[in-house]
Amino acid sequence: MRQQCTNCAGTRDLYFVTNGTQGDDFPGRMVIYCAQCRKERPGNLDISLPIALLTTDLFKGLYIMGKTETDPQMAIQMAFGQAMLILKKELEGVLELKKSSLKKFRFISFWFYKFSLKL
Ligand SMILES: [Zn+2]
Repeated sequence: MRQQCTNCAGTRDLYFVTNGTQGDDFPGRMVIYCAQCRKERPGNLDISLPIALLTTDLFKGLYIMGKTETDPQMAIQMAFGQAMLILKKELEGVLELKKSSLKKFRFISFWFYKFSLKL
């Protein structure tokens, strides 16, 4: 399957786009837009780049930065038009790590809170 516009299924002038608030940590939804749809549905465009410039390293960077949390398998298929098993595993690892560090942080703040009540 080739990459295509999420909105109109066009296959020309495609852009990789994440929806989100610029400069914010909000993890955006990842979509592929053609030039026309990108112009007509600006929404909260955060990252937007021509699909030809998209590399696996850059893609991984988006997950590390928390720019998107779109399911890796689906995201890779959309962005690269093919399954990439190694990249998928890497992205799942990134998401898992993010989730577990957030859990740890919540756990620590909970006990810190309990403890401070006793002082
Ligand atoms: Zn389109």
